[in-house]
Amino acid sequence: MTAYKDLSKNELKALKKELTKKFEDVKAKGLKLDMSRGKPSTEQLNLSMGMMDVLTSSSDLVCEEGVDCRNYGVLDGIKEAKQLLADMMEVPKDNIVIFGNSSLNVMYDTVARSMIHGVMGSTPWCKLDKVKFLCPVPGYDRHFAITEHFGIEMINIPMTPTGPDMDMVEELVSTDPAVKGIWCVPKYSNPQGITYSDETVHRFAKLNPAAEDFRIYWDNAYGIHHLYEDKQDYLIEILMECKKEGHPDMVYKFSSTSKISFPGSGIAAIAASDANLKEIREQMKIQTIGHDKLNQLRHARFFKDIHGMVKHMKKHADIMRPKFDTVLASLEKELGGLEIGSWLAPRGGYFISFDSMDGCAKAIVAKAKEAGLVMTNAGATYPYGKDPHDSNIRIAPSYPTLDEIKLAMEVFTLSVKLVSIDKLLAKAE
Ligand code: PMP
Repeated sequence: MTAYKDLSKNELKALKKELTKKFEDVKAKGLKLDMSRGKPSTEQLNLSMGMMDVLTSSSDLVCEEGVDCRNYGVLDGIKEAKQLLADMMEVPKDNIVIFGNSSLNVMYDTVARSMIHGVMGSTPWCKLDKVKFLCPVPGYDRHFAITEHFGIEMINIPMTPTGPDMDMVEELVSTDPAVKGIWCVPKYSNPQGITYSDETVHRFAKLNPAAEDFRIYWDNAYGIHHLYEDKQDYLIEILMECKKEGHPDMVYKFSSTSKISFPGSGIAAIAASDANLKEIREQMKIQTIGHDKLNQLRHARFFKDIHGMVKHMKKHADIMRPKFDTVLASLEKELGGLEIGSWLAPRGGYFISFDSMDGCAKAIVAKAKEAGLVMTNAGATYPYGKDPHDSNIRIAPSYPTLDEIKLAMEVFTLSVKLVSIDKLLAKAE
């Protein structure tokens, strides 16, 4: 395989002609394909349909606290749901509060509370001239949307194969009191599928923030979302690590069962120190008399315990693995050795991250759209939608069928090749 950069202008032009013909043929098929969002497929949703049967009109609906789950009561989650999610999040069950169906909602509330009321008695962020968040990039667009919504300045921190650039994180966190938080997806990150190394987690726990109200927003959305039985990443548990380092309050940990049971109707939770949770419960009791306990009970009875959940995740993996393998095989076969793009092979999570040559991502996404393939907007993986290199594209293979993925990857790889050739030809002008 010859790298495109080593081809002559005439060779590139000839290749362009050949690939354009192929592209037009695919375009003529009038495809409608979508690899834009990390949604579970219908087949995956069907795995949890048993949950619909665990509670019936004749079920005993009393939870371990002795409360009728149909009624008011039990503010921060029923015991059986707390145990299940605590095991899933690898924390003691007293360090967890259960919310509604969305962890993103909890993250939003956490930032909103800090803006309006401050964190444990510190000045509310809305009264400060400047509030900053560190944003490992590429990252999750909806995290960045929350901080942008509140006018928080976002600072890009480059991701490395072991997590965010910790030299930069340590420098900014320890010297700038305006830095109040950092968004982290520490396991099978969105979009790269990177898991933070032991050293990275240790360095997080050892941070010495200039701001007393600095918090790590540890969004472990993909903690048990492995793809392979024999190749799994391991992540050190951050709450305990921060406690050991004498910073028990420095982290909020978020998770949900969105991609375990149902994204629209799962359960979400926050895990944190006693002091943080005390403050969270104070706000919570004003917001609600309690979240959906029937759904909590349904989850607890369906999965039974963490072993049930882990077994369930293997069924998800059996559906997801061939899709990831297909995307990776196509990238390797079509683009390997051409030096017009790079990617990582994650061991879990929901995404594959592709990096094109600089200045090509927007054009590739637009080109793919011409042939009926919708990808996540280029730039979405960066704060303010601005990828300084215009190179990152997130591939989400979960929702389409295998056949659709094969077609989608044909469109995608052709788009990458054509846009890269144009870029190289323009450079050669
Ligand atoms: N965090 C990350 C990193 C995600 O990728 C997603 C879903 N795409 C969420 C949170 C959303 O979680 P929830 O459904 O619990 O709001």
